[in-house]
Amino acid sequence: MLKITDLSATVGEDSEAKTILNGLSLDVPAGEVHAIMGPNGAGKSTLSYVLTGRSGYEVTGGSATLNGEDILGMDPEERAAKGMFLSFQYPVEIPGVPVMTFVRTAMNAQRKARGEAEISAPDFIKKSRDVAKMLNLDAEMLKRPVNVGFSGGEKKRLEIYQMMMLEPKFLILDETDSGLDIDALKTVADGVNAMRDPSRGMLVITHYQRLLDYIKPDKVHVLAKGRIIKTGEADLALRLEKEGYDGVLGEAA
Ligand code: ADP
Ligand code: MG
Ligand code: MG
Repeated sequence: MLKITDLSATVGEDSEAKTILNGLSLDVPAGEVHAIMGPNGAGKSTLSYVLTGRSGYEVTGGSATLNGEDILGMDPEERAAKGMFLSFQYPVEIPGVPVMTFVRTAMNAQRKARGEAEISAPDFIKKSRDVAKMLNLDAEMLKRPVNVGFSGGEKKRLEIYQMMMLEPKFLILDETDSGLDIDALKTVADGVNAMRDPSRGMLVITHYQRLLDYIKPDKVHVLAKGRIIKTGEADLALRLEKEGYDGVLGEAA
């Protein structure tokens, strides 16, 4: 599925370019959920931006492929069309644009990039209704402008709605759990668990072990100093929660 080999990347303008990723390697096979944990400033968000092609980041070495296809050479729209999806750490408000319009536009952009026809209005409405029902989302909420006046929990459910509508092939959640109460956390976890699929891979970036009580990862990786310094099973997250990062950093050094 996702294969990252020796990836290095910088951020910032040429003269002040700063190396953030430094020889990072990581494999996420189809059907698996991998967690990435690591100290603040380790490069976790940078990794998600480099994978989705955000501007301002330059790849200086290594490779990343999705199902064998080089993704680093693709523009962000092509990557989205291939099914890469990055959740937002801080959801943006889009005044004047209803949720359904926003999601339908995103779906059609994805289809267009794949050379597929737009989804018909009745098909879209049926799918939207099915997903909303599954998530216990009020249909009225989908007619309101994106995130405007939504509670933290509502924003999260909306993000899961978007995810389920777009049916990404590879999902990256970057600290989607920051600042969530327990109910919103469960919403996120239920959504992610519902999207587990033998053909789909997921990367869950988190600071806190508690999300992993609800989303059981197949592997836990520690990202520090721009690379993966340790990989373990789910219990590694518990150990990090107890001991902090000093122990694994010491072992790696
Ligand atoms: P994490 O998500 O692990 O907390 P980030 O990937 O956000 O870490 O950041 C990694 C490092 O890169 C930090 O030291 C951060 O200050 C730096 N960084 C990120 N974006 C920029 C930028 N646009 N310009 C300069 N430095 C940046
Ligand atoms: Mg951070
Ligand atoms: Mg971050």
